[in-house]
Amino acid sequence: MRILITGGAGFLGSHLCDRLIEQGNEVICLDNFFTGRKSNIQHLVGNPRFELVRHDVIDPFKFEVDRIYNLACPASPPHYQYNPIKTMKTSVLGAINCLGLAKRVKARVFQASTSEVYGDPDVHPQPEGYWGHVNPIGLRSCYDEGKRAAETLFFDYHRENGVDIRVIRIFNTYGPRMLPDDGRVVSNFIVQALQGQDLTVYGEGSQTRSFCYVDDLVDGFMRFMEQEKIVGPMNLGNPGEFTMLQLAELVLKKVGGKSKITHLPLPSDDPKQRRPDISLAKENLGWEPKIPLEQGIERTIAYFKTALSK
Ligand code: NAD
Ligand code: UDP
Repeated sequence: MRILITGGAGFLGSHLCDRLIEQGNEVICLDNFFTGRKSNIQHLVGNPRFELVRHDVIDPFKFEVDRIYNLACPASPPHYQYNPIKTMKTSVLGAINCLGLAKRVKARVFQASTSEVYGDPDVHPQPEGYWGHVNPIGLRSCYDEGKRAAETLFFDYHRENGVDIRVIRIFNTYGPRMLPDDGRVVSNFIVQALQGQDLTVYGEGSQTRSFCYVDDLVDGFMRFMEQEKIVGPMNLGNPGEFTMLQLAELVLKKVGGKSKITHLPLPSDDPKQRRPDISLAKENLGWEPKIPLEQGIERTIAYFKTALSK
């Protein structure tokens, strides 16, 4: 198949490029390099089945493709809050451009949505039927509401125009190729520990997240895209739930060294708890994560050790 991946030079997108190329597909990677890097996909450049296009998803684009994975959007809070209006445009106009293309060329189109659509959830764990508890005017809203609006557009194009959609809600995912200065918690803690700095826990560290290793997630993406039963939304994530203090302690144990834990103020609207209910994915895809946090953290530490020494 010929497959377009928007945001293909980013953390998740570059792993997806690898897997789809491995399967024998042709991949067009479209990216504006806001948070993506050429080094993430450099090993694919020169492969006759791989094309790299510098383009912004807010501007229309045309490609003859069978599948579109729409991943373009900064995912880390400091990056999506850097230019919040642009973040909203990326989610909304990016979705419209992908859906318009899918309609025209009759491609199947996949949206990388997020657990942020549940906001600071008062239902725990979060099933897909939960409508969420989201602040529409806060610092995180450009991302949360942008992704919610994108989901709305996906379902309206599906109902109105019969566009073949797949919508995934991704819970916190980590692994090799995250940027060292990405700002998300796993990369922050590992980089801090490797550099002998103190680990910055925001607030008391009692807030929870559920962390999925990238290989598990990308496997779920591809299974979901190629099944015919359901269009989503479907949660994908690892249901193992940890406080940020537990995560900090795990990283300290694995890296060793002299770093300690220091506390910084909790950012506004920071969700207190988050854990996916993955029953839908288990039933329909036969999917569940295989890589436990400890093992995934070891692999990610190994990656950052090499990346930081370059
Ligand atoms: P990332 O920041 O590494 O990747 C995003 C990619 O999109 C980057 O390559 C960036 O340059 C590109 N991009 C951003 N704005 C663009 C634009 N206007 N036009 C073209 N390209 C643009 O983040 P990631 O973790 O790989 O996330 C990928 C997708 O998955 C995002 O849509 C994100 O919202 C979603 N997601 C990720 C997680 C996670 O934990 N990693 C969780 C929920 C949702
Ligand atoms: N966090 C932290 N220290 C950091 C970065 C993040 O304690 O250096 C916390 C953050 O406040 C949040 C959790 O870790 O409660 C996950 O943050 P991240 O930015 O990775 O993702 P999100 O908040 O979008 O789930």
